[in-house]
Amino acid sequence: MPYGAGDTRSRHFDVTCYFSGGYVAEYPKPLVRLIEALSELPGVGERTAERLAFHILKQPAAASSELLDSIREAKTTVRHCKQCFNLTQQELCSICSDSRRQRDVLCVVEAPRDLIAIEKTGAFHGLYHCLLGRIAPLDGVDESGLTVDALVKRCSSGEVKEVVLATNPNIEGDATALAVARALTPCGVKITRLARGLPAGHELEYLSGTVMEEAFSGRLPLLAKGGAP
Ligand SMILES: [Zn+2]
Repeated sequence: MPYGAGDTRSRHFDVTCYFSGGYVAEYPKPLVRLIEALSELPGVGERTAERLAFHILKQPAAASSELLDSIREAKTTVRHCKQCFNLTQQELCSICSDSRRQRDVLCVVEAPRDLIAIEKTGAFHGLYHCLLGRIAPLDGVDESGLTVDALVKRCSSGEVKEVVLATNPNIEGDATALAVARALTPCGVKITRLARGLPAGHELEYLSGTVMEEAFSGRLPLLAKGGAP
């Protein structure tokens, strides 16, 4: 029986190649294990995993040791901030422990990578709260799988005056924003949502109907009463 035929670890990857003339070629067991482990990564299919595994095998020992060490270090030292659930190596992340940040406004994002994206723009100076996911009924994720309870607790302290919901502008992101807004209502904080509409630098003729609809419903006055800008 070829290796893998009765082995559950080989359920994802066909290790056997049949050649004309009845010859059978198999990958060594550790290589199959590596390919299967890599193919578990998001966005990595079987063929990409195979290519990566061969690349790792070809690398000098120092390069693969660095890969192993960096995975081990990240897994053992990176944790969630106890206040906002951003990623950090300390109890509190660099944003929560920065005394220059505005502490009465929280920006709620789905994931730490959204926080980083907003930080790169320099457009927000308050604190954050990472939900660590979004409501996704098809994947079995509801509000209880997110950090909503911790957010409600933060907003009940009296320090927070406004919560800006910055979940992604799609069906799941909207459902998440709505659920968070409902949960926060008893806290009495001002709840806002990031504006949607025209992306800067784009020509109107290339925009979709949805974007245009959102831009119209979110339109703002250009001049104040009396004509002042
Ligand atoms: Zn934090």
